[in-house]
Amino acid sequence: MKVLIGAFAHESNDFCPGFTTREMFEFYEGQDVLDHLPVSDIFQKAGIEMVPSIFACAQSYGPVEKETYLYFEGKILDTLRQNPDIDGIWMFCHGAMNVEEIGSGEYRLACDMREITGDRCAISFGMDLHGNLEEDFCRQVNIFRCYHTAPHTDQADTYRRTAQTLVHYLQHGYRIFPQMRKLPMIFPGEMAATTVEPMQGIIAQLKQWEASDPAIACASMYVGFAWTDAPRTSSTVVVVPATPEDEAYCAKKADELAAAVFDKRKAFRFEMLALPPRETVEESFRLPAPVCVTDMGDNPTAGTTGGSLVLLKEYLAAGSGGKRVLIAGIYDPQAFSSCIAHSPGDVFTLRLGLDIDSVTQPVDIRVIYRGCHKVLGYDFITNPPIERCQGCTVSIGNIDVVITNRPYAFTQKVNFSSCQLDPRKYDVFVTKFGYIFPELKELGQSYIMSNTPGESYQMIAELPYRKINHPIFPLDRI
Ligand SMILES: [Zn+2]
Repeated sequence: MKVLIGAFAHESNDFCPGFTTREMFEFYEGQDVLDHLPVSDIFQKAGIEMVPSIFACAQSYGPVEKETYLYFEGKILDTLRQNPDIDGIWMFCHGAMNVEEIGSGEYRLACDMREITGDRCAISFGMDLHGNLEEDFCRQVNIFRCYHTAPHTDQADTYRRTAQTLVHYLQHGYRIFPQMRKLPMIFPGEMAATTVEPMQGIIAQLKQWEASDPAIACASMYVGFAWTDAPRTSSTVVVVPATPEDEAYCAKKADELAAAVFDKRKAFRFEMLALPPRETVEESFRLPAPVCVTDMGDNPTAGTTGGSLVLLKEYLAAGSGGKRVLIAGIYDPQAFSSCIAHSPGDVFTLRLGLDIDSVTQPVDIRVIYRGCHKVLGYDFITNPPIERCQGCTVSIGNIDVVITNRPYAFTQKVNFSSCQLDPRKYDVFVTKFGYIFPELKELGQSYIMSNTPGESYQMIAELPYRKINHPIFPLDRI
C-alpha cells in the first residue's frame, strides 16, 4: 500500500494589513518532508510505502495570496497524479487557511485531491484546534482530529493519532466519514485555553472517549479562529467512527457533545487577569515581580504584524518609577537596520514604528544600543533550537526593548537567553503573545493578559466582521 505524506498549513488573519506570500513559507520537498513530520515510523511499521509531497508552513499572517496557494497546491496535486496507485493521504493542515478569492485552503485542497483520487482513497488530516471548517469538509476528508491542548503542546500526538487511524482504515478498507457539528459560537483562543474550564472538562471528555470507547477513533473540539472573517468561522465538534458499524452511534455522540459544549458558551473566559493597556501598566507595577504581560492584541502567532507600540508608549508615558521593564520583541526591520549600523554603547535617537496602522505609529526615542543577537527557538520537531529571527536590544532609561527583524513571539526561555536577557531580573517583562505559555508561567511570578488593540484584538464583538454567519455567540445574543 502507498500513502502520500505532506503538510500545507497557515492560519490567516483577515484583519492583518498584508498577504502571506510564497517566500514566507518554510518549504521542503522529498525526504525532508518525512523528516519534519513525526509519523513515518507508523507507516513503516505497517509496511506502507510513503510518498512525500511537500512541507509548506508559514507563521500566521494575512490571507494567503491566490498565486502562492496555487503554487503549493499544484505540487501536491502533481505528486498525486504521478502516483495513481495511492491508497491514502496523510497531511498536516491547520484549518484556518484563508486564500485570496478562494476561501478555505484546506477545503479546496481536500476537494481537488478528491477529484483526482475519487472515493477509493482514504484521506486523513492532523489539524490545529483553531480551524474553521466548511460544512461539507466531512464529506471530503475521512479522518480529521485537532490538538487537545491550547497553548499547543500535543502536536505530535495529534499527527500520530490521525496517521494511526488512517492505517487502521486502510487495513480494513474503510471509507467512512466523520460526524461533524458546527456550533453558532466563536472565541478568541485566549478565552478557550485547555488549562482552565470549560475547555479543560470538554477535553477530558474527548480524551476519555478516545481512550476507552472502542467505537470512537478520534474526538475533537475545534475552537475556531476568530480573526478569519468568513461564513465558516465558528467552533465545531467532530467524532470519527472506528468502524462503519459505529457511524450511527458516533452521530449520537456528536449531537451530545455539540449540545454540551454550546451549553457552556457563557463560561469561556481568560485564564488569567486581563486588563486594558493603561490598567495593565499600573497593575504591573503593583503585583509581585517578575510580572509577565502578554500583548494580546499583537500576537504574531495569530497573524499580527508584531510591531505594535501600544504598551511601549504606555510604559514611556507612565515613567518606570525605578522599575525595570523588558519588552521583547517589537518588529521593525528599519529600526533594526539603524541599530546594527551602530556599536554597542552608542547613544542615538531611533525612530521606531512600522507606520502601517494605528498601533504602529512611529515614536522617536533616545536609546543606548546594547547589541544584536540571533534569537533561538524550537518547535516540537527541532532539537536543538534554531535561529528564528535576530534581535537588537536598546535601553531607554529602565526600559529595555528588543527590536526584531521578523515578527516573533517570545514564549520560550531560550528566546530570551539567546539575547542574553533574563526576564527574572526585571520587574515586568512584556511579550507579544496571548496565553501565558507554559515557559512564560515559569519565568513569571504574576501575570497579566493585556487587552490591547491590534489585529488579534480580543473583544471580537467589536470587530468589523462582514462575512461571518449570524446569529453567532458572542456577537449575537443567543
Ligand atoms: Zn492554534
